[in-house]
Amino acid sequence: MMHPATELRFISEEVGFGVFARQAIPCGTITWTGDELDQRFTRDEVARLHPMCRQAVERFSYIDPAGVFVLCWDHGRYVNHSCDPNCFSAGFQFEFAIRNILAGEQLTDDYGLMNLQAPLQCRCGSENCRIVIGPDDIEHRAPGWDAMVRTSFEFIGKVDQPLWTVLQDRGEVEAVLRGDRDIPSCAFHRFQSE
Ligand SMILES: [Zn+2]
Repeated sequence: MMHPATELRFISEEVGFGVFARQAIPCGTITWTGDELDQRFTRDEVARLHPMCRQAVERFSYIDPAGVFVLCWDHGRYVNHSCDPNCFSAGFQFEFAIRNILAGEQLTDDYGLMNLQAPLQCRCGSENCRIVIGPDDIEHRAPGWDAMVRTSFEFIGKVDQPLWTVLQDRGEVEAVLRGDRDIPSCAFHRFQSE
């Protein structure tokens, strides 16, 4: 489920749609969380879908740590990738703003956490664009990403959280904010196929 102060906007024929902030979203705000309306498909179930449905699932879903295809039911499935994203995920089933997001700004995350099935050409235009987003990016980049998340995670406990009660891992997040446990690594998201 996306943060309620976000909306879908058409960007261009090349990019398609994207998700934008309708108001300022401060650093630490949970911008998306998995919820019980998301549709989940095993690889076999995807293979049995009508080709047009399969295409939609392959384009708009992410693959979770168990290898399940998750198709977000709302505009969460239109969040675009950036190599300099303003939303990110630690080792939890939610994303949060890792810096202040301005009203009208596009929300972006990193598809390096989504277990891509094939490399993706990137034209995000950011200074640090990786050009190719690889399925294995998480292997090399998790330590750097964890360090990035660490600088903004504490703000989760300091800002309004409209999605807080939807969060499935609230207890663990509270334990982190109390200092009782470390922030779990984003490497949690990696699906390791046999
Ligand atoms: Zn890029």
